[in-house]
Amino acid sequence: MNYASSILGLLPGGRRAPGITQLSSKVEAYLPAAEVERVRAAHDYAAAAHHGQKRQSGEAYITHPVAVADILADLHMDGPTLTAAMLHDVVEDTPSSALEVRERFGEEVAELVDGVTKLDQVQFKSRKEAQAESFRKMILAMVRDIRVIMVKLADRTHNMRTLEAMPPAKRRTIARETLDIYAPIANRLGIHSLKLELEDLGFRTLYPQRYRVIERELKRSRGNQKEFLPKIVRALRKALAAAQITGRVEAREKHLYSIYTKMRRKKLPLSQVIDVFGLRIVVGSVDECYRVLGLVHGLHKPMPGRFKDYIAIPRVNGYQSLHTTLFGPNGMPIEVQIRTEDMHRMAEAGIAAHWQYKSGDHDGEAQQARAREWLQGVMQLHDGATGSAEELIESVKVDLFPDKVYVFTPKGDIMRLPRGSTCVDFAYAVHTGVGQRCVAAKVDRRLVPLRTVLRNGQTVEIVTAKGAQPNPAWAGFVATAKARAAVRQYLRNLQRGEAADLGTRMLNQALGEFQLSLGTLPAGRIDEVARSLSLRDGRDLLEKIGLGERFAPLIARRLLPAGENQAVSGPPQPLAIAGTEGLVVSYARCCFPIPNDAIVAFLSSGRGVVIHRESCANVAAFGRQPDKWIPAVWHKDQQRLFSSELKVEVRNRVGILAEVATRIAAEQSNISHVNVDSGQGELSTLLFEVQVHDRAHLARLMRAIRAMPDVIKVERSLA
Ligand code: MN
Repeated sequence: MNYASSILGLLPGGRRAPGITQLSSKVEAYLPAAEVERVRAAHDYAAAAHHGQKRQSGEAYITHPVAVADILADLHMDGPTLTAAMLHDVVEDTPSSALEVRERFGEEVAELVDGVTKLDQVQFKSRKEAQAESFRKMILAMVRDIRVIMVKLADRTHNMRTLEAMPPAKRRTIARETLDIYAPIANRLGIHSLKLELEDLGFRTLYPQRYRVIERELKRSRGNQKEFLPKIVRALRKALAAAQITGRVEAREKHLYSIYTKMRRKKLPLSQVIDVFGLRIVVGSVDECYRVLGLVHGLHKPMPGRFKDYIAIPRVNGYQSLHTTLFGPNGMPIEVQIRTEDMHRMAEAGIAAHWQYKSGDHDGEAQQARAREWLQGVMQLHDGATGSAEELIESVKVDLFPDKVYVFTPKGDIMRLPRGSTCVDFAYAVHTGVGQRCVAAKVDRRLVPLRTVLRNGQTVEIVTAKGAQPNPAWAGFVATAKARAAVRQYLRNLQRGEAADLGTRMLNQALGEFQLSLGTLPAGRIDEVARSLSLRDGRDLLEKIGLGERFAPLIARRLLPAGENQAVSGPPQPLAIAGTEGLVVSYARCCFPIPNDAIVAFLSSGRGVVIHRESCANVAAFGRQPDKWIPAVWHKDQQRLFSSELKVEVRNRVGILAEVATRIAAEQSNISHVNVDSGQGELSTLLFEVQVHDRAHLARLMRAIRAMPDVIKVERSLA
């Protein structure tokens, strides 16, 4: 089978869209009746769904899926692929639901359609050269079943064939994307026939002038070759027969885009690239390939340095052949490819060859085995392969980049992260500083928790805040080494420094009860006490106090000069909370204290202090341990944002949640979490965790929400 020439026979212009009747007979030639029937049923379903829709060209929309299926039928793709091709635009463009496709055509087809729909949703946003490779990988990474790519490539091929109907600017964008993204993917997967057609169509659109010149020259060159080519072919056939080798000798078509790139790559004039005979010899075995090479070199002198053994060392995409160039008549070079039938099939169809339907060989296992072998070869050649073959290929599903996820920055740049990465990993990947200060994330413009695991093709935006600091909880979910190392490092450094600072303040507060402070104590006194407690020095002791492992009032008593132990004092000095203490001070999630709330601090061993609102129910509950509570106040200047919880009661109506969220954002507050209790009847309760500066900010926010229509009640929730 020669797919390249079957496609070529139809190359550009004057091509008529195939009808379902034509397609059916093409499919009947290689698929069993039941499969053909399903393709027909999919056609009828799609025709009804797309009824009344027109292509840009004015043709009925259904001509497009039929043409896409037809391209795949030329590649002898299996029934599910053709069925999915027929349905590929149905879910997105018509009222038909994914569920209905699943019910009517089964799980396998539905999965394929879903895969194509998802691919259509990511857009190549950046024109940057370096981005193209990442984008290609992203496309491949999104695909769990390589047949999805087949449908997508066929879809793109038909869209390219009918590009004339599009406005010029759009035409160029699509053509650029085809050359940058889709033709290389087809190449990577070894689907030669589609690669060539995509390239030629893209080239024609982007560089019509150059295309015409090469086309004209190619025609002229073919005319010249008419005289000699049949003679050369005849001589070769005779030589094969004499050596008792069965095989085909055929002239090779040249492709405009490959001529163009060869000129540019090798800096050759057009004539030198075009005025070449192209021949292909296809034989039965590898052994015969090498024997034919000998025969060929006996007939014509080979050009030195032009022989390539791609059988022993296949190309990256698995391509195998022997290449040699001979001196032909009038010095015109003859480029010869020698390969086996198997190699030929792979060279033309690549990975598609594994899903080609062949009667008697249509069991999944044989296909899988071949696909696995092929892909394994490709992956090994490409970049030393990742993971085992089992990880690489799960049944007929293929994951070409199983361990990577590709996401966009808001500017359209692509970031590559390990699979399982979260918004925090993304933030650190952008810049360590962004990671350290991130407070919220938007994925596809929606606010999500920072721990959200990213998926391929998403656009991620990180919200940072001045003075914000990493959260120790991040260490529990980040997937990248960079983020984990940065969080840990931060925790280590800061925890010690912060703990000592806080410890100093707590100890001063405790000493205040005795009208003393650390500054007024004799030098070396604190080190002395520290050592008496088997600690390194005074700083060590202060850290331990800050971490809640030592109790400040007790240490204060030890520090008192002898005899002053029982000296009684004025009222206790409250602990001042600056909001920048970091990990050693945390804010209770039962009552969400914010600046200007009346607060108390609870000493929690090993965790520093936890701030609660005085009115918090837990304060009363822990009343049994009065020595664990110390009075606290807020520092005057607060830089950071604090979490608070708002309960908003609203009348049920579409869009109300979004409206309230928008209002919150308009008041310069972030939402870190939303919970909706739809309740019964006409009222719902929305529970927002918002970030505010202080009580005044919160009050402003509540007033703004209260003023909204359909908002019944707004209150700050309290445990
Ligand atoms: Mn389409």
